[in-house]
Formats: sequence, structure tokens, C-alpha cells
Amino acid sequence: MSRAMKSLQLRHLDAGSCNGCEQELTALTSRYYDLQQYGIDLVASPRHADALVVTGPVTDTMKKPLEKVWQAVPESKWLVALGDCAAGCGVFQEAYASHGGVAKPDLVIAGCPPRPQDILDKLNQFRLGQG
Ligand code: SF4
Repeated sequence: MSRAMKSLQLRHLDAGSCNGCEQELTALTSRYYDLQQYGIDLVASPRHADALVVTGPVTDTMKKPLEKVWQAVPESKWLVALGDCAAGCGVFQEAYASHGGVAKPDLVIAGCPPRPQDILDKLNQFRLGQG
């Protein structure tokens, strides 16, 4: 089955990020990038999401909340690792409270932090079934 979708609803979860990745993700909602023109949007509830976007290395305190939010996203669903920390190769990878990012993401958007245009391009390619 093709993954191509007209829209892509994202629930974001900060799993111990330094907030660098959030800054760049938030920039996509500005008039300059206008994320919504591509049918991509950030939603408040995981119940309304197609994909979960995780930032940060997944700290001890965020491991269980991450599992709960992931369970709340309806099937079929995708997991997006935004930034090197979530992808398991960030600067906090070896920190004592780090779980080294998310397991088996469907999409990795690399960078520390990734540039807004790169995030947008990757999400859009993913939505179109090309990423
Ligand atoms: S990848 Fe870089 S910017 Fe993103 S949470 Fe990790 S340290 Fe911060």
C-alpha cells in the first residue's frame, strides 16, 4: 500500500531535547515556511495524529510518557526522529539518563538541529511516499 497522503498530521513530543530542534520545528509554522500549505500540521492530541515526531535523546523521565503517547496514536502510524538526539547519534547519546533516541523510526531527519527547510522537505517527501 502506498504511503502517499494528502495530509500529514503530526503530534510532537519533546523527549528530553535541548529545545534546539523545537525552535526549528516551530519555525515551520511561521508565514515564511507556511507548513500548512503542504497539508502538514501539528496537532495537540496523539489521537488526531498520523505520525509521532520525537525530539531529544529519550531521557529516563520521558521514556514512559513516550510509550503512552505512541500507544495513543491510531494505527497505522509512523514514528519520526527529528534531530540527531532522537536518531540516536546526538551529543547526549552517552549521557547517564539517555536511552539513545527512539527505536526503529520510519523517518529520520538528521541534524543538530536540522534546518527548517530540511525538516519541511523530508516531511513533504514522506507525505508523498517518497521518503
Ligand atoms: S539534536 Fe541538537 S538541537 Fe536537537 S535536541 Fe539534540 S542537541 Fe538539541
